[in-house]
Amino acid sequence: MHPESDHEKEKENPEPEINPLALRKIRRARTRLLVCFWTLPVYVISIWMLLNNNRDIDTLMWIYMSLYAIFALDMAYRKCPRCGNQFYVKSILLNLITSECTHCSLSTRPDSTRES
Ligand SMILES: [Zn+2]
Repeated sequence: MHPESDHEKEKENPEPEINPLALRKIRRARTRLLVCFWTLPVYVISIWMLLNNNRDIDTLMWIYMSLYAIFALDMAYRKCPRCGNQFYVKSILLNLITSECTHCSLSTRPDSTRES
């Protein structure tokens, strides 16, 4: 019977209106595309094996390209929950390296709440 709710108001979020779930979705969109890039060697090996067996590579090629297009578009359309701009897109370039909003530098990392 110990009420341990003394230090409940220890941390105050400076941006309470930003949904961490929205940030996680943005982060996942980027991870998906990166995973797609990591599978490139697998894709190349598959193409090479298919060619060696005189098989048709068109289907695999189209599937792979479509995956890239879908993931890239999905990532490009992600909106920043703070400033409302496209999170990864500044002008026309898709920024794969950043984990921060290209417009207002909002980070997708949940633990980086420090102000700079
Ligand atoms: Zn932003």
